[in-house]
Amino acid sequence: MRVLVISDIHANLVALETVLAHAAGAYEAVWCLGDLVGYGPSPNECVARVRALPQLICLVGNHDKAVLGEIDINVFNGDARAAISWSQSVATRASLEYLQALPAQRVCGDYTLVHGSPRQPVWEYILDRFVAHDNFPFLDTPYCLVGHTHMPVIYHLAGPNGDVREEPPDYAGPRRLAGQRLIINPGSVGQPRDNNPAAAYALLDTDTDTWEYQRVAYDIFATQSRMRAARLPERLAARLGYGW
Ligand code: ZN
Repeated sequence: MRVLVISDIHANLVALETVLAHAAGAYEAVWCLGDLVGYGPSPNECVARVRALPQLICLVGNHDKAVLGEIDINVFNGDARAAISWSQSVATRASLEYLQALPAQRVCGDYTLVHGSPRQPVWEYILDRFVAHDNFPFLDTPYCLVGHTHMPVIYHLAGPNGDVREEPPDYAGPRRLAGQRLIINPGSVGQPRDNNPAAAYALLDTDTDTWEYQRVAYDIFATQSRMRAARLPERLAARLGYGW
């Protein structure tokens, strides 16, 4: 099965539509690793677009839970908090009901799917190989797909001594996964943080276990204009321009 893997859309409909157009014809199923809303200007539109995708598995993220009021928004920084409050003010009942029903973790064959980490599916950031190392024991499958950090990366359990290596994304072509234990992040559709403002996603073939990183430029100014019209924090609009 060919799977479109997306994460951290964060209510950026322009980026989401650009990714879906770019990947058109290359997938039969969609795995979405959470954070459909928060930060961006189009939460309801993004929820509606995602929920209509084919053979969808969609997880809940920490921002989704914050908009639902399920976690204290004071754990977020001021800009994120302002965006969550704004999202709460515009979210439709249909959007909230959809987000509320999302699971925090799913296992699909050889793949465990979470937003944050296997150890803490919603909250933990895997930002380095040491945290990745501590998470491998919580995995019952060879491969784990995570989002949350907005950074495309592969952590590779390299040997029996527990050594973990960090691989940057390779956009030159597909990577075979077979026979390794990996924690893989596709990067963020709607708010990349790896100094590359292009929307990030990945294509996964679960028959051959091959993973292919993708980037696609989108109309950042269009999203920024919608954010400014909604009076979302200017810093959140500006950061889209430099991918951080
Ligand atoms: Zn996120």
